Amino acid sequence: MITDSFSIKRYFSLLFVLLFMFSGAQKKFTIVLDAGHGGSDHGANRFYGDLGTVREKDVTLAITLKLGRMLEKNKDYKVIYTRKIDEFPSLTDRTTLANRSKADLFISIHVNASTKSAPYGTETFVQGPDQNKTNLEVAKAENDVIFLDEKDRETFATYDPKSPESLIALKIQQSKYLETSLLFGSYVEGNFVKKDNRFSRGVKQQNLHVLRLNAMPSVLIETGFVSNYDEAAYLASDKGQNQVAESIYDAIVSYKKAIERNGSVPVQPKEIEKPEEKALKNDFRILLMSAPIKYNSGDPALKGLNYILTIKENDLYKYYYSVTNLASVRDNNLKSAKDAGFRNATSISFIPNQKLGTGYYTLELAVSDQKLSANSYMLNTLKDVIRTKEKGKFYYTYGKFSSLEEAVKTQKDLDEKGIKNTVIQKNSR
Ligand SMILES: [Zn+2]
Repeated sequence: MITDSFSIKRYFSLLFVLLFMFSGAQKKFTIVLDAGHGGSDHGANRFYGDLGTVREKDVTLAITLKLGRMLEKNKDYKVIYTRKIDEFPSLTDRTTLANRSKADLFISIHVNASTKSAPYGTETFVQGPDQNKTNLEVAKAENDVIFLDEKDRETFATYDPKSPESLIALKIQQSKYLETSLLFGSYVEGNFVKKDNRFSRGVKQQNLHVLRLNAMPSVLIETGFVSNYDEAAYLASDKGQNQVAESIYDAIVSYKKAIERNGSVPVQPKEIEKPEEKALKNDFRILLMSAPIKYNSGDPALKGLNYILTIKENDLYKYYYSVTNLASVRDNNLKSAKDAGFRNATSISFIPNQKLGTGYYTLELAVSDQKLSANSYMLNTLKDVIRTKEKGKFYYTYGKFSSLEEAVKTQKDLDEKGIKNTVIQKNSR
C-alpha cells in the first residue's frame, strides 16, 4: 500500500510538472512597448543652450529600445514594438497590433511638458473615467496626434465620442483591466521614487485613446517634464534613460509575479474564455440629470463624461450617458457616472427601434434671440428647416423621426456636415 500511494503521488507530481512546463512553454508573457509619437509627430520638445533640442519622440524611443533589450534577455518575455525607428505608427496601428498579439501588458512611454518650467515628476495614466482638469490637459496633448492621418480619422470616426452607439462597438473593458493596470502603474511609480529618487505625481485615471481601445491592462507613463531643465537633461542622458527603463523593467517583473500569485493569469489558456454575456432585449442609457439649460459636449457641467445623448422633452434637456445592451457594461457605466459626480444617476431602459405611437422626434438645430441669416451655413445646407418663435426666441428644428435611432442617425450625418451640437427633441404631439 505504501508503495502504491507513493507511486500515485509521484505520478501526480510528475503530471503537475509536465502541465506546468506545458503551460509555460505555451505562452510567454507578451508586452507591447509603444514609444510615444515619432516621425512627423515630435511630441513635446524644448531647446536648451547646452542640451540642444530635447524631443519627446527621441526620448521615448531610446527608453523603449533600452527596456526592450532588457526584456528580450529574459526568456519569460516576448516583446512587440509599435515602432523601433523614427516613424509614426497610427494610433489605430498601435492598438490593433496590441490586440492582435493578445498581449498581457501594453506600455506607452511619453514625456510630459508644461507651459511653466517649474513642474517636474513622473506620472502614470490608466484608462478610466476622467475627473480632473489637469488630466484633461494631458489627454488633449496625447490625443491630438490622433488626427494626424487619414486612416485614423476613418477608424476613429466610428468611435465618435459624441455617438452613444460607439460604446457598444468598443465593448468597454475598463473595469476588467482597471485593477491590474492600476497595480502595474503603482509598481512603476513606486520604482521611480524608491530606486531613482524621482518625484511621483501618482497613478491617475484618464480617457486616452491609445489606451482605450486596448483589450489588456494598459498604462501610459509620463517619464518626466521636458519643460523642466533638470528633467530634460536627465531624460536626454544615457544614465537617465537606463534608470527609467530599469525601473519599468523591475515593475514588469513584480507585476508578472503578483498576478501569477493571485491567479489572475490562468495557467491553461482555455480558462481565459469566459462564456459570452447574453445581450439584453433593451438598451440602457444612464440618465445623468435633467436641466433647462443646454450643455454641449465638453462642457464642465458634464464632468468630463463623453458619449452624451441629449434628449429635450417638455423644455427640459435630459442628459444620457452611453448606451449598451449588456448588463455588466450598464452597471459599469452607472458606476462611472456616479464616480464622476452624478450621485443621482440612474439607468433607463429603451426599447430598440421603438416607433412613437403619438408624437415624433425632431432635431433642435439652434435656439437664438435673432433670426438666423438665410445665408447661414445651416440654412444653406439644409432644406425644410422649421422656424418657430416662442417667448421672443427663435427655435430651428429639422426632420421628423418616429424612432430615436433614426434621429440619432440623422444627428450624426449633420455632425459630419459641420452642423454640430444639435439636440434630439421629443414632441409628444
Ligand atoms: Zn506624448
